[in-house]
Amino acid sequence: MPDIHFDCPMCNQSLEAPEELANQLIDCPTCKKTIEVPTRSRPAKVGPEAPPPPPIVAPPHLLCTPPPLPHQSPHVRRSPMTARKPVVVAILGAAAIGILVLLVMALLSSHTSTVEVKIPVKAEEFGDQWPLTVSSGYIIKYERYIPNVSFKSYSVIFEAPDGIRYGLNGHAQSQGYRNIHAITKSRLVFGDPIYEDVSELVNVGLNSKD
Ligand SMILES: [Zn+2]
Repeated sequence: MPDIHFDCPMCNQSLEAPEELANQLIDCPTCKKTIEVPTRSRPAKVGPEAPPPPPIVAPPHLLCTPPPLPHQSPHVRRSPMTARKPVVVAILGAAAIGILVLLVMALLSSHTSTVEVKIPVKAEEFGDQWPLTVSSGYIIKYERYIPNVSFKSYSVIFEAPDGIRYGLNGHAQSQGYRNIHAITKSRLVFGDPIYEDVSELVNVGLNSKD
């Protein structure tokens, strides 16, 4: 049976409908407006020798579903998605790590308070317990406090009369201060140096009040 060729009155799309749809309301597949199928093809547009430009076949049961694409199998359509997925995951992961790093940095830097205490010490105050090769100096305690994680760290430092600073405790040494052994009295036992105990100096720093 012949199809009815007509133009959508809303968007001018060339349409084609089966004859039994004449005078029926359909939804234009292009502009989705409800239009009426005319009773016969428009002679101005569709003559026997002048077929219209590629028409869209619009049977009612297919109006709402997009036509299948036979040249694109599901496998072909899926492959670009699977190729893109790891990239998306990598980008999301990098963003998450970046946010985490920023949070930790904000925690450690902006909310850290540092307290410094400086106490003069002399060899004669310690008598035989004085463990150093210099006779005086300063004990310096740095107290770093990070409230958000309730973390306190103490660096105890000895400042020699020449202004050089040495790490008295392990925390200060791990921060890059010179090892106090450089100016600690020592004796050789089987060829190895045994250093005097500096824990009394560390205690002076740790027990100091701000
Ligand atoms: Zn239309």
